[in-house]
Amino acid sequence: MKQIQWFPGHMFKSLREMKEKLKLMDIVFILLDARIPYSSMNPNVLEIVGMKPTLILFNKTDLADPNKNKAWIKYYQEQGFYTLDIDAQSGKNVNKIYDKASEILKEKIEREEKRGLKRRPIRAMIIGIPNVGKSTLINQMTKSKATKTGNTPGVTKAQQWIKVNEQFELLDTPGVLWPKFDSLDVGFALAITGAIKDKILPTDDIVKYAIDYLKKYYPNRLKERYGIDALNLDYVEMLDQIGIKRGAILKANEIDYDRVYTLILTDIRSKNLGGITFDTYNKLISL
Ligand code: GDP
Repeated sequence: MKQIQWFPGHMFKSLREMKEKLKLMDIVFILLDARIPYSSMNPNVLEIVGMKPTLILFNKTDLADPNKNKAWIKYYQEQGFYTLDIDAQSGKNVNKIYDKASEILKEKIEREEKRGLKRRPIRAMIIGIPNVGKSTLINQMTKSKATKTGNTPGVTKAQQWIKVNEQFELLDTPGVLWPKFDSLDVGFALAITGAIKDKILPTDDIVKYAIDYLKKYYPNRLKERYGIDALNLDYVEMLDQIGIKRGAILKANEIDYDRVYTLILTDIRSKNLGGITFDTYNKLISL
C-alpha cells in the first residue's frame, strides 16, 4: 500500500520539542489504547524515548478484550518493557503508577538518597496518540490536591509543571504523537476506535472492516446484539438485518445505511458489543 501522507507538518516540530522536554524527565509513560495495543504504538516513539526509563500504560482496558489484553501485555514484556493496565476514566490502577515508577527508578532514587538529597517528586511525561486518554489520565492523577507549581527554575518559562501530591511532577501538556500507519489493517484499527477521524478512511470501508473482523473473531457478539447469524449472512445482508431490527429505514422503505454505520460504530466504541481488541498478532507477522 502507498504510504498515506496525511499527518500535519507541525508534528515534526512537536516531535523535536518532545525530545527536548524528555531530557528533563526521570521517566516516560507511553499510553496505549488497550483495544489497539499495536496500532496505537507509533513506531517512532522508541526513537524519541531513547534510553529513558519507560513504562507502557495500557489504557481503556475496560473497553478491551481481557484475554487479548493479557497476550499483548506479555508481548511487550517480552520486548523488555514495564507495563501496567489502567482505566483512566474510572481511575482503576492509576494509584499503582507511582509504585511501578519507583520500582523502575529504584537505583536512581537510591543514588540520590545516598548523596543526601531529599526525596523529590518523580518527573514524568505522558505521551501517546490523540484520543488515547492523556488528558483524562492527567486529570485523574491530579484529582486530589492538584497544584500547579508554576515555572521551575532552569526550565523554560512557559512550561507549567503540575505537582501531583508529593509523588509526581507532570508537564501540563502531554506529548501528542501522530498515529502512523503503513498498513490498512492499522489504519482501520485506528479509525474504528476513533483515534483518527472517520473522514480519513471512507466510513463504509471502516464498517466493512469492523464487521468482517467481528464475524471472524466475535461472531457470538453479533448474534447477541443484533440477533444475526453472522456466519450465514454476507456483509450487505447483515447491514440490512441490523437496519431493519434497529429501525434505520428511509421513507421509501430502504435501509438507511449511513445510520446503520453510525449505529455499529457507536456500539463498538461504547462497549455495547462487549470488550473487543482490534489488533491481532497477524499484524506483527505481516510486518
Ligand atoms: P487525549 O486526546 O489523549 O488527551 O484523550 P482524552 O483524555 O481527551 O480522552 C479521549 C476520550 O477517551 C474521552 O472521551 C475520554 O473520556 C475517553 N477515555 C479516556 N480514558 C478512558 C478509559 O480508560 N476508558 C474509557 N472507556 N474511556 C476513556
